[in-house]
Amino acid sequence: MAYAPPQSAYIGRFAPSPSGPLHAGSLLAAMASFLDARANEGRWLLRIEDIDFARTVPGADRVIMQQLLTLGMQWDGEPTWQSRRLPHYQSAFDSLCARDLAYGCACTRQELPPDGPYPGTCRNGLPPGRQARSWRFRTPPGIEHFTDRRLGPQQQDAQAKTGDFIIRRADGYWAYQLAVVVDDGAQGITDIVRGADLLELTACQRMLARSLGHPCPRVMHVPLLCDEQGRKLSKQNHASALDLSHTVRTLNQAWCALGFETLNADDADGFWRAARIAWARRYPIG
Ligand code: GLU
Repeated sequence: MAYAPPQSAYIGRFAPSPSGPLHAGSLLAAMASFLDARANEGRWLLRIEDIDFARTVPGADRVIMQQLLTLGMQWDGEPTWQSRRLPHYQSAFDSLCARDLAYGCACTRQELPPDGPYPGTCRNGLPPGRQARSWRFRTPPGIEHFTDRRLGPQQQDAQAKTGDFIIRRADGYWAYQLAVVVDDGAQGITDIVRGADLLELTACQRMLARSLGHPCPRVMHVPLLCDEQGRKLSKQNHASALDLSHTVRTLNQAWCALGFETLNADDADGFWRAARIAWARRYPIG
């Protein structure tokens, strides 16, 4: 009988928004999710989150893929593009509406408090004479408990912090929150490893996942790189391009920003071999 090696149940993903090339900040999420998948003999999927058409830069997806390959991060299977999956978001949305778990909201940005949760203005029906602009998920009350593999036990009160959140935007686009949950569910993602700016959205995503009948993936949120003003390094604040001519140096910079010591390696392959061992030691699963 042929020997079939045990298959790891781990499925991870890197889900960049193609609003520009990878930069030092987004490389951290790519590296951490890649290493975690490889350290667990898992699959590492690439999902291009290009449904915010206003922010998507044509060709940035190809540039990101080329950068990943140059740095030695090969994904498994075919990449997916959210822009090709719109009917799936529609059917998830329909299913939520059919169960009264989503509702239309007429509020404009000017009518809402700048910070703080959605006050629930349209929760029990649109005010007379008003039309739905966006659609919101009926966030259930209660504290959401989960463990972040790097940051430890978390408690989030999504109703108090965010309130009912948007799943379909006033401009007609699907919101990130809906698309990410639908895709993580459809792709059987077991582990989310991403930047710490998304930690605060985790409770909302877990609640939405349960409403759609999906399991909640394990999560790990990794440090963000900030500029001198303490703002998250991003394409918007002109993070400089990655230096792909010195791959080991570029990889080591991201590695150190993740809190590890510089690795001695002659090439990217050597770097990844050593990094994978160190990662598995620091972040074992189970
Ligand atoms: N597309 C999101 C971003 O680039 C990441 C989504 C996620 O990892 O959940 O910020």
